Amino acid sequence: MSDNSIEHLDVVVVGAGFAGMYAVYRANKDNRSVKCFEAGTDVGGTWYWNRYPGARVDIECLEYSYSFDEALQQEWEWTERYAGQAEILNYAKHVAERYNLRDYMQFETRVESAIFNEETQRWEVKTNRGDQISAKFCFMATGLISAPVDPDFEGLDGFKGEQYMTSRWPKEEIQFGGKRVGIVGTGSSGIQVISEIAEKCGELLVFQRTPSYVIPLQNHELENGQAEKIKSKYDELRALEKESFGGFTLLHSDLSPLPSKSALELSEEDRRAEYENRWKSGGLSPYYAFTDTLMDEDSNATMAEFAREKIRERVNDPKIAEKLSPDYHILTRRLSPETNFLEQFNRDNVDLVDLNEKPIKRFTETGIIVGDEEIELDIIIFATGFDVMTGAMDRIDIRGRDAQALKSRWKEGLTSYLGLMTRGFPNFFWINGPHSQFYNPILLAEFQCDLIFDALNHMDDSGKKILEATEENEQGWVDLTNQIGNMTLFPKSNNYYMGDNIPGKPRQTVFFLGGFPLYREQCEAAFDGLNAFEVA
Ligand code: NAP
Repeated sequence: MSDNSIEHLDVVVVGAGFAGMYAVYRANKDNRSVKCFEAGTDVGGTWYWNRYPGARVDIECLEYSYSFDEALQQEWEWTERYAGQAEILNYAKHVAERYNLRDYMQFETRVESAIFNEETQRWEVKTNRGDQISAKFCFMATGLISAPVDPDFEGLDGFKGEQYMTSRWPKEEIQFGGKRVGIVGTGSSGIQVISEIAEKCGELLVFQRTPSYVIPLQNHELENGQAEKIKSKYDELRALEKESFGGFTLLHSDLSPLPSKSALELSEEDRRAEYENRWKSGGLSPYYAFTDTLMDEDSNATMAEFAREKIRERVNDPKIAEKLSPDYHILTRRLSPETNFLEQFNRDNVDLVDLNEKPIKRFTETGIIVGDEEIELDIIIFATGFDVMTGAMDRIDIRGRDAQALKSRWKEGLTSYLGLMTRGFPNFFWINGPHSQFYNPILLAEFQCDLIFDALNHMDDSGKKILEATEENEQGWVDLTNQIGNMTLFPKSNNYYMGDNIPGKPRQTVFFLGGFPLYREQCEAAFDGLNAFEVA
């Protein structure tokens, strides 16, 4: 980049979801010049794009929210235990306004490349609208589950009906009344949309390849001072989140977020009572039932069988119940909290098409051919998932020292130090990205941004300009992440945590699965004095 249209900045941030918003806030607070680019027309990230009917969070909002400003957390009023997409998007907009974040953001702009210039020691960033930025530090806040897998079916281009993706849902309301609607995908997104639209459709055909384990969300309005009670002890709650594995604490129940027993230590009766409690409490509470559900096959089998029993109880037709019952290790694919999902299959206008018996052959102008059967459709919805963790960064041309492309590095295997950066890409950081702890993403963004921005301040104080992972420490982190991943049951099923849904993706855990206390300890030790890094 050589002409004078280049804007010189301290920090460039890519993405204006919750992570990017906090990075901008923190840069401002530290008096660093900053600009954030966002492809959407406004802030919100996941909650901007995934505006499909039924989209809702499954971590309680009093926890799925920023903790950095006591005034903000006291003043914002959540109406439900688990808010819907519109309310969360309003929260994001409120935060953007409250801290004037939009002044530092440029919307409808996609970053196309970020290239490290060895001579200037700066990142050269270019967008699809011709912006050219030269920045000291580059922050990728591009989202952990944000790069959709586009449907790739023969004949789809010629399909004359309406087509939608849950991850790119239009802002206009879609009319389902009297229409034959098909949906491909039964992960959390598909489950939410099915639960919401089934009664509105003329007919709904659910094309399922792999069933999901489900649990009632048990959502309800926040009433009778419930929120006030929690807000009066917000400090205690935020401290407990840090002690927990995943950054959520099962707020509205008396269940502990800190499991201490193996499922196999309990009698059959006591174990069932524990599972009953968890299903009654709902949401993500089974994750904290026992210490070994994700480590031990026998322990896992007890929860999996309980979950299948619950499916059989709720679905009238035993054959459909069987098809909706997963047979892989529970929790190794995302547990899907839902509201009346299974009951939709008791309706006359809803049918399940098992793609294992009748695979999708192709689309026609008027519908879809599965097996030897043609099914007419007016609308097709794709809830077919994401290229998790690495996908969003892989779609940008990112090149570090010696013009090495990040994408080709990661094709060989995922590398990172602390799930924040990788060697050869100095002053380049990602938030909520590959090898990050599996954790409440808003709180993780705060933690990771604070670590990095504090480090930048420390570097300023000592006249240093470059922060980079050492080869040895990076290898240590990769080994630790893979070792922990391999101790769990995740590698034993087919799931996006291992990259399985993307052909050719190296098979290894994309998350750090050691729990937040260990993650935090490792990060804080490394950042203390920056002795674990190469600093120049
Ligand atoms: P997902 O869990 O990856 O599910 C994708 C679905 O599409 C799977 O059922 C998959 O089947 C199916 N699929 C993909 N390609 C297909 C093909 N060619 N033919 C037939 N079926 C195909 O994606 P998601 O539902 O969007 O959820 C992603 C993640 O986002 C969740 O796990 C969760 O972390 C997050 N999320 C959270 C919430 C919430 O908080 N409430 C809501 C939505 C999403 P196979 O498994 O057989 O490939």
